[in-house]
Amino acid sequence: MFIDGEWRGAASGATFDSTNPATGAVIASVPDGGRADAQAAIAAAERAFPAWSATTAYQRSDYLRRAWQIMMDRRDELAKRMTEEQGKPLKAARGEVVYGADYLLWFAEEAKRLYGTTIPSSRADQRFIVSHMPVGVVAAITPWNYPMSMLTRKIAPALAAGCTVVLKPAESTPLCAVDVIKVLAEAGLPKGVVNLVTAKDPAPIGQEFVTNPAVRKITFTGSTKIGRMLATQAMSGLKRVSMELGGHAPFIVCEDADAVHAAKGAPLVKFLNTGQACISPNRFLVHRSKVEAFQNEFKARMLKMKAGSGFDDAVSIGPLINEAAIAKIDRQVKDAVAKGATLLCGGSRLTDNGLDKGCFWAPTLLANVTPEMLIYREETFGPVAPVIAYDSEDEALRMANDTHYGLAAYVYTPNLARAMRLYEGLRFGIIGINDINPTSAAAPFGGMKDSGMGREGGREGIADYLEVKLGGFAI
Ligand code: NAP
Repeated sequence: MFIDGEWRGAASGATFDSTNPATGAVIASVPDGGRADAQAAIAAAERAFPAWSATTAYQRSDYLRRAWQIMMDRRDELAKRMTEEQGKPLKAARGEVVYGADYLLWFAEEAKRLYGTTIPSSRADQRFIVSHMPVGVVAAITPWNYPMSMLTRKIAPALAAGCTVVLKPAESTPLCAVDVIKVLAEAGLPKGVVNLVTAKDPAPIGQEFVTNPAVRKITFTGSTKIGRMLATQAMSGLKRVSMELGGHAPFIVCEDADAVHAAKGAPLVKFLNTGQACISPNRFLVHRSKVEAFQNEFKARMLKMKAGSGFDDAVSIGPLINEAAIAKIDRQVKDAVAKGATLLCGGSRLTDNGLDKGCFWAPTLLANVTPEMLIYREETFGPVAPVIAYDSEDEALRMANDTHYGLAAYVYTPNLARAMRLYEGLRFGIIGINDINPTSAAAPFGGMKDSGMGREGGREGIADYLEVKLGGFAI
């Protein structure tokens, strides 16, 4: 753990193992932090806050830019760590390291653009100015699926704004977090500005975060269930909260779309991180006239995908994170088939050729999916693509919005007017129009409804770390 500028073990002396999800092998032991460690980290962040928040935007920008440079210089080493600990193919891991570094660079620049405003007053002897202040100590909780970029997406804007940070990463990927914090430490951040508490049991750390009065903001990425619980508790201390939660993205293939082209994009986004992505499509809504062409191309591409260790260049399907993920997918697929879905490919765990040591699931295509099936509503978080046929644009829009989630949605159509209608009608925070990667450090990422509140990245991503201060001057 990294507390007050020092690498140290847990106060209790306890440790836990981080393992490789492709092989089950232990990679290393890390400190198993508890409430006392969280308290020490928060106290360090609180002590560091006055001096850090008093630095100039240019100084904070310099630290972040240095961290960006170190992260880029180290991208191969960091990517290998990610593949080893999280399982994604090395190429995807390299992409995530660069994406993660992008946030450091973007917010290094945004730090210098924290403009205020002046407001005309109705009184001749009065002047109003509005400026921004950092909220204070930020407690960040992050998931395992994007174990580096989810960290920088929070830490970079927090530091740019002048906040200090305590991070608790996911239990499955603590070593990725250690490596990111090393990058920040080597950039020369003053002690206590960034702190890391690793833990096997997240609950005591979470409790300290939501109850400690020194913490002024909780920023969380993870499941809706845990996010809702933490947000509710944080509210009683009137802490600010940002929540990046689950999703259930629709992928609409319109009547006028090139179904083969859409089916080329579909696996790229569906099998991103083996389906373990919050923006992964969970319902493929395809116009009835295009279903056959779409499914044929999609299936042909799925059958060519190889599962295995992310260190094998030919592999595009890595392991799922744990047995619980396998059990959830198995339950959803069995439920769909029992209720009338047709299994076009996949549908089972992969165990041949050494895959039995990890949690591998075959890329799966389900046809004739209906709203009664669990997979129509529950986030799958795995390599299963359910196809649902529709007959009219209104029906597609109604079905797409028929979810309590609201993170990402995708549309394939060459018709500008239709694209605009769907863009406007979809109740989601991120819409890809003929675009399967509508994300960037420069763009706001986040969801509506049960997908959360707040935005990360873009101009909006720093606003969540700032208080607004009004000055009324009588002259
Ligand atoms: P999760 O179980 O909610 O865990 C997320 C983080 O919360 C982990 O660090 C976890 O620690 C911690 N946590 C769990 N219980 C806690 C508690 N009682 N108190 C404090 N912290 C607690 O979610 P996950 O399964 O890791 O991640 C997958 C979910 O994240 C999916 O729903 C996905 O859609 C969502 N996600 C959303 C975005 C987005 O930007 N909207 C991005 C990526 C992922 P442990 O690991 O130790 O349990």
